[in-house]
Amino acid sequence: MTPTDTATTSDDTSSTDLPVVSHWIDGVERPSTSGRTAPIFNPATGKASAVVGLADQAEIDAAIASAQRGFEVWSRYSSAKRQTVLFAFRELLNARGRELAEIITFEHGKVLSDAMGEILRGQEVVELATGFPHLVKGAYSENVSTGIDVYSLKQPLGVVAIISPFNFPAMVPMWFFPIAIAAGNAVVLKPSEKDPSAALWLARLWKEAGLPDGVFTVLQGDKLAVDGLLDSPVVQSISFVGSTPIAQYIYETASRNGKRVQALGGAKNHMLVLPDADLDLVADQAINAGYGAAGERCMAISVVLAVEPVADDLIVKIRERIAGLRIGDGAGDERGEPDMGPLITAEHRDRVSSYVDLAEADGATIVVDGRGFVSEGHEGGFFFGPTLIDAIPTSSRAYRDEIFGPVLSIVRVATFQEGVDLINSGEFGNGTAIFTNDGSAARRFQHEVQVGMIGINVPIPVPVAYHSFGGWKKSLFGDAKAYGVHGFDFFTREKAVTSRWLDPATHGGIDLGFPQN
Ligand code: NAD
Repeated sequence: MTPTDTATTSDDTSSTDLPVVSHWIDGVERPSTSGRTAPIFNPATGKASAVVGLADQAEIDAAIASAQRGFEVWSRYSSAKRQTVLFAFRELLNARGRELAEIITFEHGKVLSDAMGEILRGQEVVELATGFPHLVKGAYSENVSTGIDVYSLKQPLGVVAIISPFNFPAMVPMWFFPIAIAAGNAVVLKPSEKDPSAALWLARLWKEAGLPDGVFTVLQGDKLAVDGLLDSPVVQSISFVGSTPIAQYIYETASRNGKRVQALGGAKNHMLVLPDADLDLVADQAINAGYGAAGERCMAISVVLAVEPVADDLIVKIRERIAGLRIGDGAGDERGEPDMGPLITAEHRDRVSSYVDLAEADGATIVVDGRGFVSEGHEGGFFFGPTLIDAIPTSSRAYRDEIFGPVLSIVRVATFQEGVDLINSGEFGNGTAIFTNDGSAARRFQHEVQVGMIGINVPIPVPVAYHSFGGWKKSLFGDAKAYGVHGFDFFTREKAVTSRWLDPATHGGIDLGFPQN
């Protein structure tokens, strides 16, 4: 698909001329007949590019039924045959990732190289999943009692659902589906309705790779589709990534309905800068981690905790670097690729702006103000300029809440301990980083900080595929993290088999007690 804008403006989304993004059921595109749609925008132009059909109950049922049929077929495939399909998918993704990146940039707005980056991070999980036979093999204990062996088997769950956010339309689903599929499950993916086309592209790629129909289904929709998956007795597990209130709702509802659940929520990530740190390195990393993908990353750094006396120097350095950033259409233009693209919707841009208003009203200093930023030639786009805030009161909601935009706040602290205490007092615990040359301070930080993913002189510490991704506190509900060994445990059910092949010599006769030897 070559993405193209229509001439429709953001307030005219009811046009029937817009292309409709469909479901993927039974290995084909299935247009929704529900009569309900949501608009999809190109955030760089602010124009609607398509609408997505939102599933009704009949479509939800059809998707789940198809996945159930897919599971019956796929779970009988041998490991070797499943591996062949996974390797083919990996090769196709490697060869054609650029097409997917263009779709992501067109619907999400992030710059193309960043879209390629998210595909590569997802591909890591595909590569891990190709080695699945090693990770789902059971254990065998011979002769645990005379003539008795015990062994374990890991089997797929059945139909599993993934519900993903707008900010990583390819990578976040890929945190889950390669492992789920490798383990023999059938997946129903409910992408974000804001950028749903990446999921369809991935579905076509699976088909080309030889995956049987029904094993990878895309159900387009909103809360109705999510609730349909949560309430279906066929769906065995839910893997959710999104905002904290919805993650909590998913965790509670799925658990109540007896399902396994992974529920990853929002974040407010702090970078602690000690006085001995290299401030040029810190300023570069604060820019990358604060403004990359316009701050729409759950691992973005949104607060720099500067242990005094470094704050003033650091602000000068960050400010200089902001002045050199170019903001524009993520697809690039004659000047090449910009550093930062727009936000996802006009509503989200206005919400980000209102947090800067709030910080100002609460007494913070707006050092660099991105409110009202206009990208030349893209006046209708959902742009917001990089924003730097100093002296934000920690009582302000603009400090405590997740803003999810290119807004970096500086908080000045007197000591290492004051910084750690502030991080630990927050409601989120997704990621954090310390910048220092003092190894003992870094060790103390990793031990004391109440956060799931920690960077030491690394601003965005997203673990590689063979570790697992997940935060603490309100950044992850329950205990099931994404990918790595956690992923294989989540998508398999274990059976323990105790076996004795009777022969007259070892038959113990009648004994109503526990066997002793
Ligand atoms: P969101 O919570 O609005 O939406 C996520 C998914 O939930 C979407 O598929 C959406 O259709 C569905 N949904 C929305 N409202 C719902 C409702 N009331 N009932 C049922 N389902 C509903 O999140 P978003 O705005 O798409 O994504 C941004 C959020 O995701 C941020 O908070 C970000 O921190 C978080 N995120 C977290 C991680 C992580 O790993 N912890 C990764 C990426 C994004």
